[in-house]
Amino acid sequence: MGKNLTSRAEDYSKWYNELVVKSDLAENSGVRGCMVIKPYGYAIWEKMQAQLDKMFKETGHENAYFPLFIPKSYLSKEASHVEGFAKECAVVTHYRLKNAEDGSGIIVDEDAKLEEELIVRPTSETIIWDTYRRWVQSYRDLPIMVNQWANVVRWEMRTRLFLRTAEFLWQEGHTAHATREEAVAEAEQMMNVYAEFVEEHMGVPVMKGTKTASERFAGAEETYCIEALMQDGKALQAGTSHFLGQNFAKAFDVKFANKEGKQEYVWATSWGVSTRLMGALVMTHSDDNGLVLPPKLAPIQVVIVPIYKGLDQLDAISERVEPLVKELRSKGLSVKYDKRDTHKPGFKFNEYELKGVPVRLVVGQRDLENGTYEVARRDTLQKESVKADDVVEKVVSLMEEIQENIYNKALTYRKEHITPVDTYEEFKRVIEEKGGFVTAHWDGTAETEERIKEDTKATIRCIPLNVDKEEGVCMVTGKPSAQRVLFAKAY
Ligand code: AMP
Repeated sequence: MGKNLTSRAEDYSKWYNELVVKSDLAENSGVRGCMVIKPYGYAIWEKMQAQLDKMFKETGHENAYFPLFIPKSYLSKEASHVEGFAKECAVVTHYRLKNAEDGSGIIVDEDAKLEEELIVRPTSETIIWDTYRRWVQSYRDLPIMVNQWANVVRWEMRTRLFLRTAEFLWQEGHTAHATREEAVAEAEQMMNVYAEFVEEHMGVPVMKGTKTASERFAGAEETYCIEALMQDGKALQAGTSHFLGQNFAKAFDVKFANKEGKQEYVWATSWGVSTRLMGALVMTHSDDNGLVLPPKLAPIQVVIVPIYKGLDQLDAISERVEPLVKELRSKGLSVKYDKRDTHKPGFKFNEYELKGVPVRLVVGQRDLENGTYEVARRDTLQKESVKADDVVEKVVSLMEEIQENIYNKALTYRKEHITPVDTYEEFKRVIEEKGGFVTAHWDGTAETEERIKEDTKATIRCIPLNVDKEEGVCMVTGKPSAQRVLFAKAY
């Protein structure tokens, strides 16, 4: 198999699409904006899910499931929410088809029109808060800490595999609390959980912050987010966590009796990450030879390829490799011994490089004689010869080394691509010529934010948290600014 990938320098966007398809992660389907996630891609998603699910449970959450369909009247109950999502809703109007009388085929049966249209969920706040009304009476019923793994539909106009699809897989947490403080703490906690997952498991460094009013989730009082930087200098929103105030409780009349017996509205959060994370993973680490996967999420962590002439040699190699496979598996590693006789070693090397398998062991006739393996790591493409006795230890330590190395590489790239600027001229030049994150002072108004977006296509990715707050003046209007905010062109 020739890789023949377009290089990143040539056409980053084409490189990404080709890579996702050629490495067997996903492909476009016959349905507009909807993708097929292939087994290799789904295996990575499952690993992400498993780790996230563990972290959600460790922070006190439970899983549940709510309907795919949302009655239109529910969606309309929270005014800013429906306004934000109205333009991308898929609507179910009928429940039956029939044969056309003129024999022209199957048509919608107009006699089977739904009394109330159903929306395919773009997010589930409304159906969930309609449910929580029945679950909550007193302060003893709080908090509710629920997560749902599901698919949602948002009728996106411009779609990209994983990054933006019309239907996507995600999880959505929906919590209910007795106090504002508790809900805010929960929203912040989940932003931190996301950051920890994305950095420690995906190896992708992120900036934490809050969204400006115009970028906030429809119906939220505050949106916390994590923002990552891709290798082409564009930002990607990797996860969001919303403090919803009492907006949904008021819209759905969810009240509780507090300790004094007084009725109060419940406080809410919601938080989600989606299959977009797959796009972030690919775009952060991969190179012109293919995927580079972090060991913690790689479906195959070690592949062993034999080089042999004739089945006798293969048998001799297998005799040595099979106990090694067992030993590596006993260390918790996922190992593949690829002794297919139908493909040449060179083909296999290409394939596993394309698929981002972190470590490749090769064993040939000379290795058998010398008692060695050739160990190749995917991230640096370095090869070395390792004594058979030391190979398990070597592979185990490489898992950690590679995980760390790709994170550090991404972190270095990001450090080199955060540019502080003080004038609008400089801002425009950096956004245009260098890309990446730009930190600058902004006067806090939607008008200035909009003007910058129109002039440069750059948006405020977030108002960073946990940074030194340095006061200054807005680079556009000269008005006062409490701190620098983070701009970038984004996916
Ligand atoms: P939201 O509910 O808008 O805060 O989005 C929740 C999560 O889903 C965020 O991490 C978004 O980055 C992600 N997301 C939003 N729209 C899409 C889409 N069309 N395809 C994939 N992921 C998305």
